[in-house]
Amino acid sequence: MPARLNLVVLGKQGAGKGTQCKRLATTYEIPHISTGDILRGAVKAGTPLGREVASVLESGALVSDDLVIQLVKERFDEPDAQRGGLLDGFPRTLGQAEALEVLLGADGIKLCVNLDVPIELVTERLSSRRVCQECGAIYRDSDVEAISGTCSNCGGDVVQRDDDQPDAIRRRLETYERDTEPLLAFYESRGLLVTVNGDQSPDEVTEAIEKVVRDRGLA
Ligand code: AMP
Repeated sequence: MPARLNLVVLGKQGAGKGTQCKRLATTYEIPHISTGDILRGAVKAGTPLGREVASVLESGALVSDDLVIQLVKERFDEPDAQRGGLLDGFPRTLGQAEALEVLLGADGIKLCVNLDVPIELVTERLSSRRVCQECGAIYRDSDVEAISGTCSNCGGDVVQRDDDQPDAIRRRLETYERDTEPLLAFYESRGLLVTVNGDQSPDEVTEAIEKVVRDRGLA
């Protein structure tokens, strides 16, 4: 079995983490682990976890470290994650980053990619974002799928996320700046941080990340 490849992808909401992680998951054959998707799935399924976190997600605040750390631990126990994973939306706080290091071991994380996008652009992207509730495909409000409300991938409903409303967007970006930006220094101090310009086409961003992975001999 090839060595484990665990990549952390950081970036403001709307920086393109989900889009890039989906592509990289296919390239490197490792799962895309998005704590936001796991939590939204629980809300949609109406599980006890979903009922516990529904209002927090809607408001754009963070759920507790203990809760998401437990979810990530369970996810890494699943067979497909034995080769590693692409972490999207986790860690989000220093406490989570430290817990991840304990979970995967000091050299378990191979790279942290920071997708850098100006705040004006992410605000615009988030307000126009529409998502498929079934498969998570991402559209813009001007796309035919968003206008018809039907996903061309899977036929699922295409909707606007509650937390992509203006007040929640503002709160989420403030939370990112306060709680998550300190992680840049955390990964920088471990020699793992690479910043990629996220204000390029999705293909160009993917190429830039794949080049770093190649140059570092990670895959
Ligand atoms: P996302 O799709 O990554 O923007 O996550 C959507 C929402 O899920 C966030 O606004 C938080 O309420 C919650 N969430 C996702 N990941 C985390 C995390 N690592 N720590 C705390 N809350 C999270």
